[in-house]
Amino acid sequence: MKYALLDRGDRLSRQLAEQFHTLARARGLIHDESAPDIVLSIGGDGTLLQAFHRFRDKVRNVAFVGVHTGHLGFYADWQKNELTELVELMASTEPKTVSYPLVKVEIVTNGGTSVYMALNEFTLKSVDGTLVAQLNINDEPFEMFRGDGIVVSTPSGSTAYNKSVGGAVIHPSLEALQIAEIASINNRVYRTLGSSIILPKHHHCDIVTDPEEPLAIGIDHLIMQFHEVRSIVCTVAEDKVHFARYRPFPFWNRVREAFIGLDQAQMASTQKRPR
Ligand code: NAD
Repeated sequence: MKYALLDRGDRLSRQLAEQFHTLARARGLIHDESAPDIVLSIGGDGTLLQAFHRFRDKVRNVAFVGVHTGHLGFYADWQKNELTELVELMASTEPKTVSYPLVKVEIVTNGGTSVYMALNEFTLKSVDGTLVAQLNINDEPFEMFRGDGIVVSTPSGSTAYNKSVGGAVIHPSLEALQIAEIASINNRVYRTLGSSIILPKHHHCDIVTDPEEPLAIGIDHLIMQFHEVRSIVCTVAEDKVHFARYRPFPFWNRVREAFIGLDQAQMASTQKRPR
């Protein structure tokens, strides 16, 4: 089994990476950055996002595993003191693979079309102030947006930026994308739906902006400036991202642990309601 590894670059992550390489060598795992089966990230969710973008072109053929050095992550679910167990499982067992949808973003400018894939979300903001954008769904005009910005998230990204702006948390087994508003202006003159919208895989949305307006476009942790943008098309991507699961870690448990923090003791003492 061949693995690649990306660490966050801080002292602890680098030490853990060294420790992992030593353990992996001893168990016969091959370190191969060019054609890995497993891509390991050591750091946090942000490190896994970086690993995803580094191996984006190989996304069909690799499975990701995340180790976190701080508090529990959404993508990074192994703890720093579990490296021995992780290496042992990688060397001896075939993992279960879970696959999550991605958002495909096509940015059409006067100079051509750029295609990106987001694991968490695509964000659109104006560089200069209020964003003005027309949102079309399946080629029909839907609304004229005025406000701070728009977030188009994947189901696994629904717990990230999307959640902060009031979007719904959706299970990553649903092939969908979610469009959420960031501080839309709603009054007698300007009107948007005001709630997030979830589109199924066979639908698409186009965001049309004034080509004169410079835009700040975010693809996960990467923020880029674009000029002369004619439209942006968002769809659920054909490709999915794969995660190697050497032990179960259900999505709703991750949501509970990250946002509710109800521990096992509290859960055990809570009476289950009779059905
Ligand atoms: P960062 O270091 O600021 O991390 C942001 C936080 O988001 C971290 O705590 C991370 O664990 C968490 N996170 C990342 N992906 C998540 C997910 N799918 N579900 C739940 N939490 C998640 O920034 P970064 O490490 O470069 O990560 C970039 C991400 O930060 C973006 O993809 C975006 O989702 C998120 N972000 C959130 C806000 C916000 O909530 N207001 C603003 C900007 C960016």
